[in-house]
Amino acid sequence: MRYSLKQRLTVSYIIIVIASIGFAILFANVGIKNQFKRYAIQKQEKETAEIVNLIQLKYEEEGGFSSHYLDLIGMNALQNGMTVVIKDSGNKTVWSAYEHNNGLCQAMIQNMTINMSSYSNKWDGKYEERTYALKLKNSEIGVLTTGFMGPYYFNDEELIFIKALNSILLFTGAASLLLAFALGIIMSARLSSPLIKISEKALALAKGEYRGRITEEVNTREIKILADTMNQLSEALSDKDRLRKQLTQDVAHELRTPLTSVQGHMEAMLDGVWELSTERLESCYEEILRIKKLIGSIEDLSVIEDKNIILHLEEFEFQKLAGRMIHNYENDIVEKNMTIRLNVPMSSEGVKDDMLYADKDKICQVLNNLLSNAVKYSDKGAEINITFGKEEKQAIIRVTDTGMGISEVDLPHIFERFYRADKSRNRNTGGAGIGLAITEAIIKAHGGSITVNSKYGEGTEFTITLPQG
Ligand code: ADP
Repeated sequence: MRYSLKQRLTVSYIIIVIASIGFAILFANVGIKNQFKRYAIQKQEKETAEIVNLIQLKYEEEGGFSSHYLDLIGMNALQNGMTVVIKDSGNKTVWSAYEHNNGLCQAMIQNMTINMSSYSNKWDGKYEERTYALKLKNSEIGVLTTGFMGPYYFNDEELIFIKALNSILLFTGAASLLLAFALGIIMSARLSSPLIKISEKALALAKGEYRGRITEEVNTREIKILADTMNQLSEALSDKDRLRKQLTQDVAHELRTPLTSVQGHMEAMLDGVWELSTERLESCYEEILRIKKLIGSIEDLSVIEDKNIILHLEEFEFQKLAGRMIHNYENDIVEKNMTIRLNVPMSSEGVKDDMLYADKDKICQVLNNLLSNAVKYSDKGAEINITFGKEEKQAIIRVTDTGMGISEVDLPHIFERFYRADKSRNRNTGGAGIGLAITEAIIKAHGGSITVNSKYGEGTEFTITLPQG
């Protein structure tokens, strides 16, 4: 059985209210009972002592027992819930509340029994009697017997107070219950409404609907984090979807263009429209090479997907590796009249310090990507600089060019797969937008980082940081 948030919250609040009011009633009653009990017993003892004193005083004043004052003392005691019987030294009853007004005595005893039974059905009190000696100058003049409800009893006012207190507590409880109920509904509505929206969003994502974000105002921190995470997930999935669609489009387009060209050339030659020549065959061959290169790039994509790239780490001379790379681009460099420089630091003794601990083949691939981009995206007369340096326990490789640069809009995306800054420009350069994604994956696998700085029309700078040792 699953309960809704509303039911759970409301029931929890109600339980809390019932428990608190229950404890309040319990503790208040136990506390009051103990306080009143002590007070009632002390009151009883004080009254008895006063009666004894008063009788002894009056006896001395009047020279004996007399109903004249005994009536007053006895009736007063009766009104305070105590019966009084006085006997003289000869054990003869001189005054008795029962003889004086038996009806009133019985009514009082009955009233006290009803009061205490209505207060608690566990009350086990009974009417008790106690005797006290009456003395005058150390000689006994008689005996006073008091009767009262023991061990304690509450009078009408005290009972009214206790009952009123319980009624107030019960009333508070009822009001709190209503409040708990209302609060349960309001709070659960506040919590469940965004949660329902989030689950709807998750369902939509599962169905491939990536548009739309959770915009509802949320005041609960954890739910806000959940909503933000869901929005980020939606953003990431939407991006992935866009890239996937772009990949399909790009691959189809990139393959179709050279294939159509090869097909056209072949058909023309087969139909005898074109003469079979080495030049034409070379052109077809170049197109086939382009297709092969593209398929190679698509295969390279698995490098990015593979989160556990296996590295073969070794120590090698960076200058040698970079020099070889530069050599590969000699033709383009001469053709575009470019200048390329390789800067390696020298130690204080004048010895070059260019040892790099990394996967040589993978770093070669990285340099190749960066260098080919620098050459590809630079116009005639541009300058390219490759700088190697060491800072604390890090090796830093910088590749800068004074080429065409990357616009601010494109800059945050260039490490994404198949992202090409300027689609038409890139089609001519033959790039598929994979090189930098692979470069970043390789650097990350080394535990390093790659960042880019660029100004459109001015040039670009890539900085690689690789941990050493
Ligand atoms: P591509 O194969 O298209 O060169 P990359 O992943 O290597 O793919 O680069 C992504 C995009 O970043 C390129 O299409 C290009 O627009 C831009 N880019 C990369 N390097 C440079 C650079 N040095 N100068 C200008 N633009 C660059």
